Amino acid sequence: KRLLEGKRVVITGAASGIGAQVAATCAEDGACIMLLDLDAAKAAEVAASLAGEGHSSVPCNVVDAGAVAEAFRQANEKLGGVDAVVNCAGIWRPSDDGPIARVSDETWDQIIAVNLTGTFNVCREAVKSMEGRGGGSIVTVASVVALTGWEKLNAYSASKGGVLSLSRALAVECGKKGIRVNCVCPGVIETPMTEAVLVYSKPTVLPIGRLGRPSDIADSIAFLCSDRSAFTTGATVVVDGGFSAA
Ligand code: NAD
Repeated sequence: KRLLEGKRVVITGAASGIGAQVAATCAEDGACIMLLDLDAAKAAEVAASLAGEGHSSVPCNVVDAGAVAEAFRQANEKLGGVDAVVNCAGIWRPSDDGPIARVSDETWDQIIAVNLTGTFNVCREAVKSMEGRGGGSIVTVASVVALTGWEKLNAYSASKGGVLSLSRALAVECGKKGIRVNCVCPGVIETPMTEAVLVYSKPTVLPIGRLGRPSDIADSIAFLCSDRSAFTTGATVVVDGGFSAA
């Protein structure tokens, strides 16, 4: 039996980078996927490229609580329930996010809205959908910057620290409902999000000797979605090539 055979998985930010790879990996592992993203056209393209049958996409801005509720209504109706939810939607704006004196209200509000409030909106609907249906697995995506300080990433670091704390609080709240909540903290992963920055600063000092790939994160997330991680909840899963251990 494949790792996620028969599992119904909702993935936000699934049109690009880590989220698109999570969709591909989970589909290969036997899951039926619903992709949520701002970019409706790209999400539909990714959905059409996945292995297996029954995948779909819904345009959704995770900042809009009503749109998130509607997307979950569709997921419940179409899939008959949700077994796992993965929060990959996120933004960063490294050129606007420091030094702190230059961070605008708009930058702060936008980053907190998408990364933290968006994750909250999605987790709230995930819990509503999973409770009373036997539980499920929620995976949030923070970053190593939730654990270690990075210069000139003020709003982004704060948003990811919030995601990590929310995940732990929810794990404690929802354990008895059979809902597990785990937070993945990627290091530097080569995706469209980091492309522009990596041109200037390629970190060559990672203990594992290379940058991260979306598949490195997707493999850990597939495990957390699966029953193989049945006793893992409230965990901070660092996937950073040893960066934060060095
Ligand atoms: P990406 O830019 O390639 O993909 C992000 C996706 O989220 C895009 O498809 C985008 O359309 C979508 N999105 C953005 N705002 C949205 C919104 N309001 N509603 C719905 N969808 C929205 O980024 P990525 O590198 O794949 O990052 C995925 C997640 O991993 C993010 O949360 C990011 O902060 C986190 N992360 C990435 C890295 C890295 O090195 N790439 C490191 C640590 C953490």
